Amino acid sequence: MRIAIASGKGGTGKTTVATNLAQMAARAGRPTAYLDCDVEEPNGHIFLKPTIEEERPIEKLVPTVDPRLCTHCGACAKICRYGAVASLPNETLVFAELCHSCGGCELVCPVDAIHEAPLTIGTLRLGRSEAIRFVEGVLNVGEAMSPPAIRAVKAAAPRADLVLLDSPPGTSCPVVETVRGCDLVLLVTEPTPFGLHDLSLAVEMVRAMRLPLGVVINRADIGDRKVHEYCKGHRIPIMAEIPDDRAVAEAYSRGLTISDAVPGFAERIGGLLARIDEGVGR
Ligand code: SF4
Ligand code: SF4
Repeated sequence: MRIAIASGKGGTGKTTVATNLAQMAARAGRPTAYLDCDVEEPNGHIFLKPTIEEERPIEKLVPTVDPRLCTHCGACAKICRYGAVASLPNETLVFAELCHSCGGCELVCPVDAIHEAPLTIGTLRLGRSEAIRFVEGVLNVGEAMSPPAIRAVKAAAPRADLVLLDSPPGTSCPVVETVRGCDLVLLVTEPTPFGLHDLSLAVEMVRAMRLPLGVVINRADIGDRKVHEYCKGHRIPIMAEIPDDRAVAEAYSRGLTISDAVPGFAERIGGLLARIDEGVGR
């Protein structure tokens, strides 16, 4: 079962939920994998403290132009929807950071002057944290395109009964790439006007992708009841509520998994795991 833990905005407690779920499931003897798909700023390792056993480059294919063959016909620039090729009278330029590796330019070149070559855009790190199989992607600084790195993280997922994907925040391409193909999307939010606004955007995205979803309300005793009403009105199950607790913030700031540091937290995560297993939200 693949479960993405996502949120419409950052700082809602997504990684807290994902890392604690992984820890609880693995300690219960369940083969579990944790994938940190937040490749621009992965932080699950701070809490799970994995032993890294292997590192590999993450690559994407980008076109290279052979200037000896290029006739400057402009076909490659015309087909590229991303502005990643410019055909000038005496030169054809490729902007690798804009390239989506679709291969279109290579296909249309009439003189076979374009060939794709791998470009390293980040690093894949694989290891273990207790019994959890751990995978994270780290995008190189300045690299603009995170979806290829997220695809690499997902492709490296070990075989496991439960695969937890810690998503980047928001509702844009990296999140779509992360949640694609998952069996359930858990949206973590807070009961505030900002939380509700960003939750509603995330719900629209997940529903457009026809994926099952549930909501986890973090700091559930602050703010108002509008998130609860929204979920009820849209028939979205609230899978868990986590109260606002200074001890949670203290454990987080010390890089501890909350289940280990805060009494009662493990039971809440255990309850969430049980609801997932019961098929709530799917
Ligand atoms: S591979 Fe696709 S995205 Fe990249 S430069 Fe060629 S046409 Fe543009
Ligand atoms: S399609 Fe081929 S020949 Fe035409 S400008 Fe691009 S690289 Fe040059």
